[in-house]
Amino acid sequence: FDQRDGFIWFNGELIPWADAKIHLLTHGLHYASCVFEGCRAYNGEIFKLREHTERLVNSADILGFKIPYSVEEIDDACRAELKAQGLTDGYLRPVAWRGSEGLGVSAQKNKINLAVAAWEWPSYFDPEQRKRGIRLDMAKYRRPSPETAPSHAKASGLYMICTISKHAAEDKGYADAMMLDYRGYVAEATGANIFFVKDGVIHTPVADCFLNGITRKTVITLAEQRGFQLIERHILPEELSTFEECFIVGTAAEVTPVGEIGPHKYTPGAISAALYDDYMAEVRREIRVHASA
Ligand code: PMP
Repeated sequence: FDQRDGFIWFNGELIPWADAKIHLLTHGLHYASCVFEGCRAYNGEIFKLREHTERLVNSADILGFKIPYSVEEIDDACRAELKAQGLTDGYLRPVAWRGSEGLGVSAQKNKINLAVAAWEWPSYFDPEQRKRGIRLDMAKYRRPSPETAPSHAKASGLYMICTISKHAAEDKGYADAMMLDYRGYVAEATGANIFFVKDGVIHTPVADCFLNGITRKTVITLAEQRGFQLIERHILPEELSTFEECFIVGTAAEVTPVGEIGPHKYTPGAISAALYDDYMAEVRREIRVHASA
């Protein structure tokens, strides 16, 4: 992956992909002083770019550092990277981190770096699995309380438990894992928010200790536009057997139906399908033709 052709926007310049290197003693690597974004471009336009950039700047602020570029400059960097890669559809990864000017827990004087990479990434999950609904394992780790970790930052450190959980799930043949939160409520998947359907009503956990995803907010608006009833509330794992449909949403995952969480089975249904269609039309700025429910 690091030896591809192409370019990466790196601290203000477009440099060859394979040359985008950092030093071994980078603070971000040792102490996770690193924040990032994941955006998708459709038909040449980066969906909700400004929201992603603002979240990146805010994540850095939560970690106590300031990215040395304005929101406009970061937006321009993303567009320049997409263009340099010759992509109209693809995934973008802006990332900001403390550099290698000193190594210790404290890194007040380390340089803040910013890079943006972009590549083609058609489907986060196997398209066949996606049709049937992906299978989720129950994760061993829980989303930490906002008093334990900066839950609302898209910070690299918070992904340690996600990678452990996703690997454990994959090793057992699952596509991903569902995490509970520190109180034992249903939280989210390792890189996407989660929704359920029961008796025609949509239920989703309150985003009070994990990312209130940009896709989550978009899907909530689309559900409201459809006239679907939607409730944000705390969901207990005991309720998992009572839902009919389940789907996860995120920039990479888009809207992906879930067929199974551990022993619980779901059938990709009408509401998942409607919101998938609406989301894909929204990101592609196509006019949606549907009768409101
Ligand atoms: N939760 C986690 C842990 C994620 O990594 C993501 C992906 N950024 C999301 C939720 C969904 O966020 P978004 O819709 O903004 O991509």
